[in-house]
Amino acid sequence: MAREYNFSAGPSMLPNYVLEKIRDELFEYKDTKQSVMEMSHRSKEYLSIFDECEAKFRKVLGVPDNYSVLFLQGGAYTQFSMLPMNIMTVNKTADFVLTGSWAEKASQEAKKCGEVRIVASSKDSNYTYIPEIDVSTLNPDADFMHICYNNTIYGTAFQLTPKAIVPLTADVSSMILSKPLDVNEFGAIFASAQKNMGIAGLSVVVIRNDLLERSPSDLPSMLNYSIQQKNGSMFNTPATFSIYVLSVLLDWLIDEIGGLETMETINKEKSSILYDYLDDSKMFTGTVEKGSRSDMNVCFLAQSEELNKAFCSESTAKGLLNLSGHRSVGGMRASIYNAMPIDGVKALRDFMSIFEKEHM
Ligand code: PMP
Repeated sequence: MAREYNFSAGPSMLPNYVLEKIRDELFEYKDTKQSVMEMSHRSKEYLSIFDECEAKFRKVLGVPDNYSVLFLQGGAYTQFSMLPMNIMTVNKTADFVLTGSWAEKASQEAKKCGEVRIVASSKDSNYTYIPEIDVSTLNPDADFMHICYNNTIYGTAFQLTPKAIVPLTADVSSMILSKPLDVNEFGAIFASAQKNMGIAGLSVVVIRNDLLERSPSDLPSMLNYSIQQKNGSMFNTPATFSIYVLSVLLDWLIDEIGGLETMETINKEKSSILYDYLDDSKMFTGTVEKGSRSDMNVCFLAQSEELNKAFCSESTAKGLLNLSGHRSVGGMRASIYNAMPIDGVKALRDFMSIFEKEHM
Protein backbone atom coordinates (compact mmCIF):
# COMPACT_ATOMS: atom_id res chain seq x y z
CA MET A 1 0.00 0.00 0.00
CA ALA A 2 1.51 3.32 -1.06
CA ARG A 3 0.89 6.59 0.69
CA GLU A 4 2.10 9.84 -0.82
CA TYR A 5 2.77 13.24 0.74
CA ASN A 6 -0.52 15.13 0.75
CA PHE A 7 -0.18 18.93 0.99
CA SER A 8 -3.95 19.51 0.96
CA ALA A 9 -5.27 22.49 2.95
CA GLY A 10 -8.00 20.33 4.45
CA PRO A 11 -9.15 17.69 4.93
CA SER A 12 -5.51 16.84 5.18
CA MET A 13 -2.98 14.19 6.21
CA LEU A 14 -3.36 12.14 9.37
CA PRO A 15 -0.38 10.67 11.21
CA ASN A 16 0.22 6.97 10.40
CA TYR A 17 -0.11 6.32 14.14
CA VAL A 18 -3.73 7.51 13.97
CA LEU A 19 -4.64 5.61 10.80
CA GLU A 20 -3.10 2.40 12.11
CA LYS A 21 -4.86 2.66 15.47
CA ILE A 22 -8.21 3.33 13.78
CA ARG A 23 -7.64 0.38 11.44
CA ASP A 24 -6.77 -1.92 14.34
CA GLU A 25 -9.80 -0.84 16.35
CA LEU A 26 -12.28 -0.51 13.48
CA PHE A 27 -13.99 -3.86 13.90
CA GLU A 28 -13.89 -4.05 17.64
CA TYR A 29 -12.99 -1.21 20.00
CA LYS A 30 -11.01 -2.63 22.92
CA ASP A 31 -13.10 -5.58 24.16
CA THR A 32 -16.51 -4.00 23.59
CA LYS A 33 -17.46 -6.45 20.78
CA GLN A 34 -18.45 -3.49 18.59
CA SER A 35 -17.04 -0.76 16.42
CA VAL A 36 -17.01 2.84 17.68
CA MET A 37 -19.19 3.64 14.65
CA GLU A 38 -21.89 1.33 16.01
CA MET A 39 -21.98 2.58 19.59
CA SER A 40 -24.83 4.51 21.08
CA HIS A 41 -23.53 7.93 22.04
CA ARG A 42 -25.10 7.42 25.45
CA SER A 43 -23.55 4.01 26.10
CA LYS A 44 -20.98 3.73 28.85
CA GLU A 45 -18.39 2.52 26.31
CA TYR A 46 -18.83 5.61 24.16
CA LEU A 47 -19.10 8.04 27.07
CA SER A 48 -15.71 6.94 28.28
CA ILE A 49 -14.21 7.69 24.82
CA PHE A 50 -15.94 11.10 24.84
CA ASP A 51 -14.86 12.02 28.37
CA GLU A 52 -11.27 10.90 27.79
CA CYS A 53 -11.17 12.94 24.60
CA GLU A 54 -12.31 16.08 26.37
CA ALA A 55 -9.88 15.49 29.27
CA LYS A 56 -6.94 15.00 26.89
CA PHE A 57 -7.93 18.03 24.81
CA ARG A 58 -8.12 20.19 27.94
CA LYS A 59 -4.75 18.92 29.11
CA VAL A 60 -2.93 19.32 25.79
CA LEU A 61 -4.28 22.81 25.11
CA GLY A 62 -4.28 23.85 28.78
CA VAL A 63 -7.95 24.81 28.85
CA PRO A 64 -8.69 26.57 32.17
CA ASP A 65 -11.56 25.33 34.39
CA ASN A 66 -13.67 28.42 33.73
CA TYR A 67 -13.94 27.51 30.04
CA SER A 68 -16.28 24.97 28.44
CA VAL A 69 -15.33 22.71 25.58
CA LEU A 70 -18.13 21.99 23.09
CA PHE A 71 -17.95 19.25 20.46
CA LEU A 72 -20.33 20.45 17.75
CA GLN A 73 -21.05 19.91 14.06
CA GLY A 74 -21.54 22.13 11.04
CA GLY A 75 -17.88 23.10 10.64
CA ALA A 76 -16.26 26.46 11.28
CA TYR A 77 -18.84 27.93 8.90
CA THR A 78 -21.61 27.33 11.42
CA GLN A 79 -19.51 29.07 14.05
CA PHE A 80 -19.35 32.20 11.89
CA SER A 81 -23.10 32.52 12.63
CA MET A 82 -23.39 30.75 15.95
CA LEU A 83 -20.79 32.88 17.70
CA PRO A 84 -22.49 36.26 17.00
CA MET A 85 -25.96 34.78 17.55
CA ASN A 86 -24.87 33.84 21.05
CA ILE A 87 -22.49 36.55 22.20
CA MET A 88 -23.19 39.62 20.03
CA THR A 89 -26.23 40.11 22.18
CA VAL A 90 -25.32 42.83 24.67
CA ASN A 91 -24.56 45.95 22.58
CA LYS A 92 -25.01 44.16 19.25
CA THR A 93 -21.73 45.42 17.90
CA ALA A 94 -18.39 43.70 17.23
CA ASP A 95 -14.91 44.59 15.95
CA PHE A 96 -13.35 42.48 13.20
CA VAL A 97 -9.82 42.22 11.84
CA LEU A 98 -9.92 41.39 8.13
CA THR A 99 -7.06 39.10 7.18
CA GLY A 100 -8.68 37.02 4.47
CA SER A 101 -11.73 35.20 3.19
CA TRP A 102 -12.49 33.37 6.42
CA ALA A 103 -12.47 36.58 8.46
CA GLU A 104 -14.57 38.24 5.75
CA LYS A 105 -17.09 35.42 5.79
CA ALA A 106 -17.28 35.56 9.58
CA SER A 107 -17.85 39.32 9.45
CA GLN A 108 -20.62 38.93 6.85
CA GLU A 109 -22.46 36.52 9.12
CA ALA A 110 -21.96 38.77 12.16
CA LYS A 111 -23.54 41.66 10.23
CA LYS A 112 -26.80 39.73 10.40
CA CYS A 113 -26.67 40.12 14.20
CA GLY A 114 -25.66 43.78 14.53
CA GLU A 115 -23.04 46.38 13.68
CA VAL A 116 -19.62 45.20 12.49
CA ARG A 117 -16.64 47.57 12.55
CA ILE A 118 -13.48 46.67 10.63
CA VAL A 119 -10.64 47.75 12.90
CA ALA A 120 -7.73 46.59 10.73
CA SER A 121 -7.48 45.05 7.28
CA SER A 122 -4.91 43.92 4.74
CA LYS A 123 -7.45 43.59 1.95
CA ASP A 124 -5.66 46.39 0.03
CA SER A 125 -2.76 44.00 -0.67
CA ASN A 126 -4.82 40.85 -1.24
CA TYR A 127 -4.12 39.84 2.36
CA THR A 128 -0.36 39.37 2.09
CA TYR A 129 0.28 40.52 5.65
CA ILE A 130 -1.24 40.69 9.12
CA PRO A 131 -2.24 44.31 9.78
CA GLU A 132 -1.30 46.22 12.94
CA ILE A 133 -4.18 46.78 15.31
CA ASP A 134 -4.28 50.22 16.89
CA VAL A 135 -5.75 49.56 20.34
CA SER A 136 -6.87 53.18 20.66
CA THR A 137 -9.33 52.65 17.78
CA LEU A 138 -11.02 49.62 19.33
CA ASN A 139 -14.58 49.90 20.58
CA PRO A 140 -14.74 49.36 24.37
CA ASP A 141 -18.46 48.59 23.97
CA ALA A 142 -18.02 45.87 21.34
CA ASP A 143 -19.42 42.51 22.40
CA PHE A 144 -16.26 40.86 21.07
CA MET A 145 -13.32 41.36 18.73
CA HIS A 146 -12.73 38.66 16.12
CA ILE A 147 -9.62 37.42 14.33
CA CYS A 148 -8.77 34.49 12.09
CA TYR A 149 -5.48 33.31 13.62
CA ASN A 150 -4.07 31.47 10.62
CA ASN A 151 -5.25 32.39 7.16
CA THR A 152 -5.32 29.08 5.34
CA ILE A 153 -5.83 30.57 1.88
CA TYR A 154 -3.23 33.36 2.02
CA GLY A 155 -0.57 31.71 4.21
CA THR A 156 -0.44 34.43 6.85
CA ALA A 157 -0.69 34.04 10.61
CA PHE A 158 -0.71 36.19 13.71
CA GLN A 159 2.68 35.57 15.30
CA LEU A 160 1.33 36.57 18.71
CA THR A 161 -2.21 36.86 20.00
CA PRO A 162 -3.21 40.52 19.59
CA LYS A 163 -4.29 42.64 22.55
CA ALA A 164 -8.00 43.24 22.81
CA ILE A 165 -10.05 45.35 25.20
CA VAL A 166 -13.17 43.19 24.91
CA PRO A 167 -13.45 39.36 24.71
CA LEU A 168 -11.26 38.21 21.83
CA THR A 169 -12.66 35.46 19.60
CA ALA A 170 -10.62 33.52 17.07
CA ASP A 171 -11.11 31.11 14.24
CA VAL A 172 -8.21 28.75 14.93
CA SER A 173 -9.27 26.09 12.40
CA SER A 174 -5.93 25.89 10.64
CA MET A 175 -3.56 26.36 13.58
CA ILE A 176 -5.12 24.75 16.66
CA LEU A 177 -2.78 22.20 18.31
CA SER A 178 0.13 23.37 16.12
CA LYS A 179 1.63 25.33 19.01
CA PRO A 180 0.74 26.36 22.56
CA LEU A 181 -2.07 28.89 22.84
CA ASP A 182 -2.94 30.77 26.02
CA VAL A 183 -6.68 30.18 26.15
CA ASN A 184 -6.98 32.86 28.87
CA GLU A 185 -6.35 35.49 26.21
CA PHE A 186 -9.62 34.62 24.49
CA GLY A 187 -13.32 34.82 25.19
CA ALA A 188 -13.88 31.99 22.72
CA ILE A 189 -12.07 30.06 20.01
CA PHE A 190 -13.46 27.67 17.43
CA ALA A 191 -12.06 25.28 14.88
CA SER A 192 -13.25 22.68 12.46
CA ALA A 193 -11.43 19.42 13.01
CA GLN A 194 -10.25 18.42 9.56
CA LYS A 195 -6.71 19.84 9.68
CA ASN A 196 -4.87 19.35 12.99
CA MET A 197 -7.70 17.69 14.91
CA GLY A 198 -8.59 14.66 12.85
CA ILE A 199 -11.43 14.36 10.38
CA ALA A 200 -14.35 16.42 9.11
CA GLY A 201 -17.65 16.29 10.92
CA LEU A 202 -16.52 17.77 14.21
CA SER A 203 -15.97 21.35 15.26
CA VAL A 204 -14.66 22.35 18.65
CA VAL A 205 -15.61 25.51 20.54
CA VAL A 206 -13.80 26.62 23.68
CA ILE A 207 -15.71 29.37 25.44
CA ARG A 208 -15.35 31.25 28.72
CA ASN A 209 -18.26 30.29 30.93
CA ASP A 210 -19.48 33.82 31.68
CA LEU A 211 -20.08 34.35 27.94
CA LEU A 212 -22.49 31.43 27.91
CA GLU A 213 -24.88 33.60 29.91
CA ARG A 214 -25.30 35.80 26.85
CA SER A 215 -27.09 33.14 24.77
CA PRO A 216 -30.65 34.35 24.08
CA SER A 217 -33.29 31.82 25.10
CA ASP A 218 -35.18 32.19 21.82
CA LEU A 219 -32.30 30.84 19.71
CA PRO A 220 -32.85 27.49 18.00
CA SER A 221 -31.67 24.98 20.58
CA MET A 222 -29.01 23.40 18.37
CA LEU A 223 -27.45 26.84 17.84
CA ASN A 224 -27.50 27.84 21.50
CA TYR A 225 -24.09 27.52 23.20
CA SER A 226 -25.62 27.49 26.63
CA ILE A 227 -27.98 24.61 25.76
CA GLN A 228 -25.15 22.70 24.09
CA GLN A 229 -22.98 23.17 27.18
CA LYS A 230 -25.74 22.15 29.60
CA ASN A 231 -26.28 18.99 27.53
CA GLY A 232 -22.60 18.09 27.45
CA SER A 233 -22.52 18.53 23.62
CA MET A 234 -25.12 15.77 23.40
CA PHE A 235 -28.31 17.72 22.74
CA ASN A 236 -28.40 15.51 19.67
CA THR A 237 -26.10 12.71 18.49
CA PRO A 238 -22.60 14.18 18.29
CA ALA A 239 -20.05 13.30 15.59
CA THR A 240 -19.14 10.13 17.47
CA PHE A 241 -16.45 8.75 15.17
CA SER A 242 -14.79 12.13 14.55
CA ILE A 243 -14.55 12.63 18.32
CA TYR A 244 -12.95 9.18 18.65
CA VAL A 245 -10.43 10.12 15.92
CA LEU A 246 -9.59 13.32 17.81
CA SER A 247 -9.01 11.22 20.90
CA VAL A 248 -6.57 8.95 19.04
CA LEU A 249 -4.87 12.00 17.56
CA LEU A 250 -4.42 13.46 21.03
CA ASP A 251 -2.73 10.20 22.10
CA TRP A 252 -0.29 10.73 19.21
CA LEU A 253 0.35 14.34 20.26
CA ILE A 254 0.92 13.34 23.88
CA ASP A 255 2.72 9.98 23.52
CA GLU A 256 4.61 10.32 20.24
CA ILE A 257 5.20 14.06 19.95
CA GLY A 258 5.29 15.06 23.62
CA GLY A 259 2.94 18.05 23.57
CA LEU A 260 2.49 21.41 21.92
CA GLU A 261 5.91 22.94 22.71
CA THR A 262 7.63 20.14 20.81
CA MET A 263 4.99 20.28 18.09
CA GLU A 264 5.75 23.96 17.60
CA THR A 265 9.49 23.28 17.35
CA ILE A 266 8.87 20.62 14.71
CA ASN A 267 6.45 22.86 12.80
CA LYS A 268 8.94 25.76 12.82
CA GLU A 269 11.65 23.44 11.53
CA LYS A 270 9.38 22.27 8.71
CA SER A 271 8.25 25.74 7.61
CA SER A 272 11.84 27.10 7.80
CA ILE A 273 12.97 24.45 5.31
CA LEU A 274 10.55 25.91 2.75
CA TYR A 275 10.90 29.60 3.64
CA ASP A 276 14.72 29.39 3.63
CA TYR A 277 14.56 27.79 0.21
CA LEU A 278 12.12 30.45 -1.07
CA ASP A 279 14.35 33.26 0.23
CA ASP A 280 17.28 31.94 -1.82
CA SER A 281 15.38 30.81 -4.89
CA LYS A 282 15.69 32.62 -8.23
CA MET A 283 12.50 31.04 -9.57
CA PHE A 284 10.05 30.91 -6.67
CA THR A 285 8.83 33.72 -4.43
CA GLY A 286 6.79 33.54 -1.25
CA THR A 287 3.56 35.52 -1.50
CA VAL A 288 3.55 36.73 2.10
CA GLU A 289 5.50 39.41 4.00
CA LYS A 290 8.18 37.85 6.17
CA GLY A 291 6.79 38.92 9.55
CA SER A 292 3.37 37.43 8.77
CA ARG A 293 4.32 33.97 7.52
CA SER A 294 2.25 30.96 8.49
CA ASP A 295 3.91 27.75 9.66
CA MET A 296 0.91 25.78 8.40
CA ASN A 297 0.29 27.05 4.85
CA VAL A 298 3.24 28.11 2.73
CA CYS A 299 2.17 29.99 -0.42
CA PHE A 300 4.52 30.65 -3.31
CA LEU A 301 4.63 31.51 -7.00
CA ALA A 302 6.92 30.61 -9.87
CA GLN A 303 7.75 33.26 -12.46
CA SER A 304 4.89 32.57 -14.83
CA GLU A 305 1.48 30.95 -14.93
CA GLU A 306 2.90 28.33 -17.25
CA LEU A 307 5.60 27.40 -14.72
CA ASN A 308 3.02 27.28 -11.89
CA LYS A 309 0.97 24.79 -13.92
CA ALA A 310 4.02 22.73 -14.84
CA PHE A 311 5.11 22.65 -11.19
CA CYS A 312 1.72 21.42 -9.98
CA SER A 313 1.48 18.65 -12.55
CA GLU A 314 5.11 17.50 -12.24
CA SER A 315 4.99 17.52 -8.43
CA THR A 316 1.83 15.40 -8.49
CA ALA A 317 3.56 12.89 -10.72
CA LYS A 318 6.37 12.73 -8.13
CA GLY A 319 3.94 11.89 -5.31
CA LEU A 320 3.70 15.41 -3.85
CA LEU A 321 -0.04 15.94 -3.91
CA ASN A 322 -2.42 18.91 -3.82
CA LEU A 323 0.07 21.73 -4.15
CA SER A 324 -2.13 24.05 -6.25
CA GLY A 325 -2.76 27.37 -4.54
CA HIS A 326 -6.25 28.62 -3.78
CA ARG A 327 -7.81 30.39 -6.76
CA SER A 328 -7.70 33.78 -5.00
CA VAL A 329 -3.89 33.63 -4.68
CA GLY A 330 -2.90 31.31 -7.52
CA GLY A 331 0.48 29.58 -7.70
CA MET A 332 1.21 26.97 -5.09
CA ARG A 333 0.31 26.30 -1.47
CA ALA A 334 1.97 23.67 0.67
CA SER A 335 -0.14 22.91 3.72
CA ILE A 336 2.18 21.35 6.24
CA TYR A 337 -0.01 20.68 9.25
CA ASN A 338 1.12 18.64 12.26
CA ALA A 339 0.83 15.31 10.45
CA MET A 340 3.10 16.23 7.54
CA PRO A 341 6.41 14.51 8.29
CA ILE A 342 9.63 16.46 7.98
CA ASP A 343 10.66 14.07 5.20
CA GLY A 344 7.64 15.22 3.18
CA VAL A 345 8.75 18.84 3.48
CA LYS A 346 12.32 17.92 2.52
CA ALA A 347 11.00 15.97 -0.47
CA LEU A 348 9.09 19.08 -1.59
CA ARG A 349 12.13 21.34 -1.11
CA ASP A 350 14.29 18.90 -3.10
CA PHE A 351 11.72 18.73 -5.87
CA MET A 352 11.55 22.56 -6.02
CA SER A 353 15.30 22.67 -6.37
CA ILE A 354 15.31 20.11 -9.21
CA PHE A 355 12.42 21.90 -10.93
CA GLU A 356 14.23 25.22 -10.65
CA LYS A 357 17.42 23.80 -12.21
CA GLU A 358 15.48 22.18 -15.02
CA HIS A 359 13.32 25.16 -15.91
CA MET A 360 15.61 28.18 -15.40
N1 PMP B 1 -11.89 28.85 8.77
C1 PMP B 1 -10.68 28.51 8.32
C2 PMP B 1 -9.49 29.24 8.83
C3 PMP B 1 -10.54 27.47 7.40
O1 PMP B 1 -9.34 27.13 6.95
C4 PMP B 1 -11.70 26.77 6.96
C5 PMP B 1 -11.63 25.61 5.99
N2 PMP B 1 -10.57 25.52 5.19
C6 PMP B 1 -12.93 27.17 7.46
C7 PMP B 1 -12.99 28.21 8.36
C8 PMP B 1 -14.21 26.47 7.03
O2 PMP B 1 -14.27 25.24 7.65
P1 PMP B 1 -15.48 24.23 7.37
O3 PMP B 1 -15.53 23.99 5.90
O4 PMP B 1 -15.14 23.01 8.14
O5 PMP B 1 -16.72 24.89 7.87
